Amino acid sequence: MVGATQPTTDRLDRARGALEAAGIDGLLLTPGPDLQYLTGLGDIHAGERLAALVLGRSGQALWICPAMNRPQVEACAGGVSDIRSWTDATGYTGLLSDAARELGLAGRTVAVDEEMRAAFLLDLQATCPSARTVGASRVMRTLRLRKDVEELRLLHAAGALADRVIPRARAACRPGRAENDVADEIRSALSEAAPGFRPAFCIVASGPNGALPHHETGSRRLAAGELVVLDYGGHLEGYVCDITITHSLGHPADEEAARVYRTVWEAQQRALEVIRPGVPCGAVDRAARAQIEAAGYGPYFLHRTGHGVGLQIHEPPYLVPGSEEPLEEGMCFSVEPGIYLPARFGARLEVLVTVTSDGVELLNEPSSPELIAV
Ligand code: ZN
Ligand code: ZN
Repeated sequence: MVGATQPTTDRLDRARGALEAAGIDGLLLTPGPDLQYLTGLGDIHAGERLAALVLGRSGQALWICPAMNRPQVEACAGGVSDIRSWTDATGYTGLLSDAARELGLAGRTVAVDEEMRAAFLLDLQATCPSARTVGASRVMRTLRLRKDVEELRLLHAAGALADRVIPRARAACRPGRAENDVADEIRSALSEAAPGFRPAFCIVASGPNGALPHHETGSRRLAAGELVVLDYGGHLEGYVCDITITHSLGHPADEEAARVYRTVWEAQQRALEVIRPGVPCGAVDRAARAQIEAAGYGPYFLHRTGHGVGLQIHEPPYLVPGSEEPLEEGMCFSVEPGIYLPARFGARLEVLVTVTSDGVELLNEPSSPELIAV
């Protein structure tokens, strides 16, 4: 699918500037989030056929693409008119070798898409053995980290969609229903609320399954008195939503459930309170983790406090213990502490946020401070 969002700024120029700043001579990207960010080109199902944008530091740029994908590339070429197509009969290695020669990449440093097929990297290394290859994130990370106005608009819209579905997601949880059926209903609700929405995941973790942060939704049937963790998300116009709510089916059977839930909510509050530009990512994690540790549940908070979001569900920055990376205005990420008591239950609350000039703005409705019974 060709990406629905066309970049509004000249991102290719910014990429060239980033190459210059990093002392890197060339950039090779295949269809994926980085290329979507720069040109709007989405998934064109090229698979094992090489489709790539090759950028040189001093301004040269060309596309290599399968002839069968040429119209899709022309529609999202990012202003690059040099499009070289190949057929299954000719193969692409000749074009790759031409590009390396014309851009003068021999003996130089080339940043390559870390998510592309290893076969393409091996082909590049074979056609231009003296080039030194490094990961493209060295260039692309800085460009994508701070969201621009249009990206923030799309992330707000995606977050609002996730919020709109919460009442139906809660109502879908009834004793006797299978986790899979609840997940199907949540996915349907999302698609009905926004026909262009592409669901990416839907975790329905009931009772003891809630103790697994990334439980694989299955056939287990929900029962009265259990906690249910719902974590769902996907893409709307390219940008993601990702939300987690936790509730109980009627009065919770486990007497510790309300306290665990409240602790998770408090941890999320503490994390939200410290977010502002300049604060290290690790300090946000610490704020949440300290709250959970103080309540005696430290060993049961099994993961980082959050992950960046944008075109990808998981992207930088990561709110991990000890990270010194400073928050910057425009960064967007999840804040999602959780407590997981093995074989009993789990509770996690997740909202997406963006860093403002002096604090934080939520992209989702926050969860209630007290455990909700549905
Ligand atoms: Zn999530
Ligand atoms: Zn998440």
